[in-house]
Amino acid sequence: MCRELYINNKTFFKYSLFEILISFLSFFKSIRMPCREYPIALKKENNQLAEIQNVPNGKACNCYCFYCKGDLIAVNKEENKVTDHFKHYPGSNCTLSFETYLHWLTKKIFERFDFIKLPSITFKDLYVKYWCFESEKTKKIKDLFSKYNLPEEFRDIIQYEFDLNVLNPFKIELCTTEKRLKNEEEQIQPDILLKLDSMDLLVEPYVTSKVDARKLAKIKEIDISTLAIDLNTFRKENRLEFTEEDLTNYLLLDSCKEWLYLSKSFREELFNEFMCLLDKRLNERISMVQDYANHAADIEKNGNEMKSTQDTIEQLERKIRSLESVNSDLASKRRLCIRSIYSY
Ligand SMILES: [Zn+2]
Repeated sequence: MCRELYINNKTFFKYSLFEILISFLSFFKSIRMPCREYPIALKKENNQLAEIQNVPNGKACNCYCFYCKGDLIAVNKEENKVTDHFKHYPGSNCTLSFETYLHWLTKKIFERFDFIKLPSITFKDLYVKYWCFESEKTKKIKDLFSKYNLPEEFRDIIQYEFDLNVLNPFKIELCTTEKRLKNEEEQIQPDILLKLDSMDLLVEPYVTSKVDARKLAKIKEIDISTLAIDLNTFRKENRLEFTEEDLTNYLLLDSCKEWLYLSKSFREELFNEFMCLLDKRLNERISMVQDYANHAADIEKNGNEMKSTQDTIEQLERKIRSLESVNSDLASKRRLCIRSIYSY
């Protein structure tokens, strides 16, 4: 019985590992291998995005693949048992990967955005990465604390919490997706370059790997703020079943975005925003700080009074013990007197 159990466990274990391996391989295969089926394509007549649910079935869909430019077939009949999708003609040699497909679709959707909401940045992140190394900035912060004459325990700047860059969204004046950027030596091709009203912004969507160290070093050299967008979560949640609206709504979320780099000028703007917020908070809370200081004085005064009372109690206790001792002596003498009187 034990042997059977052992064998069953082993078989189960082996089977589970096999399943995990297959799902793992199929996941990567679906990203890396040619992607011949997908839910959104381009219309031939106007080069606009077309969703599989909104086109005639079969070749009549009149859509093509953005990558190989080949014609596509719509598989979207109600009686079909498979998920609706566009597919290439049999014999197509298209090498489009799903990762490239999601990148492309993200770019197309970004081209339609008029505004972008940038994720907020915590003051601590900026302070720890940049500002604590800049003496001019640390001095400005200290000066502000001095202005409000704060007690020492309120001057630990790292204890303060602020979300910066909350004045969103930003208007997009121009979105380009094929532009190359270069300075004297370096050249990079960002996925998406946005010209906002106050700054330029690079957007780097990724499925399997974020911007590599080499590209990030170039971005820092060129000094343009950069956001990474995680498409892998979207991919895992939706597989091939999604609409343009689904991806659009996902791209609007804060949770899919991560700051990779903040340009020097943007950091300056954020520092100014932080100083205004700190000044406002200290100004609002100065009466609380005064209360705190008053409480501290009261605590010290009460402490002194308690100590003095304690001293008095100790003196009185010593006096009581001394009187008890005298009383005890007197009582002994009294007993001796009585005994002496009766003895004669
Ligand atoms: Zn293709």
